[in-house]
Amino acid sequence: MEYRMLLGREALNARFLVDPSQSFLQGDITDDRLDELYKSYMPDKTGLRIAVLASNPLLYSNKRLMEAGLARGHEMVFLNVEHSYMKLDTTEPEVRYRGGNVLNKFDAVIPRIKPAVTFYGCAMLRQFDTLGVYCQNSADAISKSRDKLYASQIFAKNDLHIPTTGFAKSPIDTKDLIRMVNGAPLILKLLESTQGKGVVLAETNKAAESVINAFKSLKTNILVQEFIKEANGSDIRCFVIDGKVVASIERRAGKGEFRSNLHMGGQASKIRIKPEERKLAVRAAKAMNLVVAGVDIIRSNRGPLLLEVNSSPGLEGIENATGLDIAHLMIRAIEKKLKFSLPAVEAVQE
Ligand code: ADP
Repeated sequence: MEYRMLLGREALNARFLVDPSQSFLQGDITDDRLDELYKSYMPDKTGLRIAVLASNPLLYSNKRLMEAGLARGHEMVFLNVEHSYMKLDTTEPEVRYRGGNVLNKFDAVIPRIKPAVTFYGCAMLRQFDTLGVYCQNSADAISKSRDKLYASQIFAKNDLHIPTTGFAKSPIDTKDLIRMVNGAPLILKLLESTQGKGVVLAETNKAAESVINAFKSLKTNILVQEFIKEANGSDIRCFVIDGKVVASIERRAGKGEFRSNLHMGGQASKIRIKPEERKLAVRAAKAMNLVVAGVDIIRSNRGPLLLEVNSSPGLEGIENATGLDIAHLMIRAIEKKLKFSLPAVEAVQE
């Protein structure tokens, strides 16, 4: 239109009418019909089939990965770990889903396995691996990263610095364990803690001793760790993809809290990390054999120390704080690994 116009109701009569009191006027429209209607807006299908193996399709990270894959023109399928099962057979191994659908045609799987289903999820991943499907993080790497003791042993062996950490079974050794990490205040960690839920600060030697012995009597394994006071309740999360730190944020604990986890009310902000921190993050992901990793680093008086390497790092906090499209980068890493190039699509998307 050459001139701006004001359209009144009369002019619209018998033309397009939007009646806000009505809804679903198209009836119960099928997914196929929707695909057909929106075809011109969607990128051409690439033929690459990628599964997100997780538990909750509504979780921010899972939704973003599905969106990012679709935006690249790939076929994305959400698989609930616990609805998948397997047939172990030398000649005809299979992955099946919900009552018998055979799922043998994927090119790649993005594992987003929650801690509660690590054992089963890793078994499913091994099965996909047997079928020749590329798994972005391997089952072996994920199970190693879920065991804080084993992971710390791998870090120390690979010359990656961690806070001094002790582990012992018998209550007879509790006092020495406390001395070993320079006494209270000290940190106690359940071996399978996530989101900071199993991490405790013991302020005095007496408190530390009774908590350690209480856990031991319950046959619960815990790590005893030197408290990095100078970190002032903050740590750094580096998101590593394929040997590169693609994003980093600083997480700051809420008032009166020493744990900086976002689930514990910590605040995230974009941060420029130092070269030695970048190097530590990349080496840590490599030592754990993780292609995608969330590496947590704490700043101490003796330099950066490695806290943890997470195999299913959340996307929400880091995407919101940095404005980066991390899900897209994860999909691109799969394309690169599968030597998949999309000249036509790329020209449109880049
Ligand atoms: P989780 O896997 O449960 O998140 P972490 O080991 O990452 O457990 O610890 C949770 C949070 O507690 C960290 O993000 C950090 O803020 C704080 N924290 C952990 N270990 C130490 C430590 N040794 N000294 C000081 N703060 C620590």
